Amino acid sequence: MWRSRVLLAAFVSLSLGLGAAGAAGAAQAGATQVGVGLPPVVSHVPTREKVFFITVDDGWNHDPQAARILLEQRVPVSLFLLPGAASYDTGYFTRLIGEGRATVENHTVNHPDLTTLDAAGKDAEVCGAGEQLDAVFGRTPKLLRPPYGAVNDEVRAAAKACGVKALVTWTYDFTTWSQTPPTPRLQAGDIVLLHFTPTLAADLQRALDAARAAGLKPAALMPHLKAAGLV
Ligand SMILES: [Zn+2]
Repeated sequence: MWRSRVLLAAFVSLSLGLGAAGAAGAAQAGATQVGVGLPPVVSHVPTREKVFFITVDDGWNHDPQAARILLEQRVPVSLFLLPGAASYDTGYFTRLIGEGRATVENHTVNHPDLTTLDAAGKDAEVCGAGEQLDAVFGRTPKLLRPPYGAVNDEVRAAAKACGVKALVTWTYDFTTWSQTPPTPRLQAGDIVLLHFTPTLAADLQRALDAARAAGLKPAALMPHLKAAGLV
């Protein structure tokens, strides 16, 4: 099965290399369809609605306070989960899906820089994660967050062969790593990046407060990607 996907990805990649060399740089700049036939790389969603998008990555820390905020305020959120991080206490995530407004999306199996892998490696990471998440959550992810935001046309072609409709990066990272980042002024269509770390509840609250100050409401990503003609 994976062989045909790798061949398809290689073919798409070759055709693009002939016709659209240099498209990758432009594609990473924002929402764009450069690289015809490949899924777009989206860091901001063009929209006239007063909405923004919350995404949470990885999944290692299952903070009950963050879950409470997401459930009580019914916050739409895309969770880009590593299968390993969702393999224990899976109920933490199924509750966010079933009782909240969370959707599980693809973040690879082992969190590599996909641009460094050969075709079989990309296939194993992206298709493999999709299959594992489907087995646990009953839905094949349609969006991919490439680890470190590292993408090129070969990654996009591999993602397409795994059924990915769009590669989603981010506008602002609100995660408190060594220190809390300055809070930006959010605009409609911005994509906020958070992580399942011990500071998730506080980081999420800062994002919600910044959005409220800008008159924005959190919204589900896929319907707005469709409305913008990106998927
Ligand atoms: Zn990650």
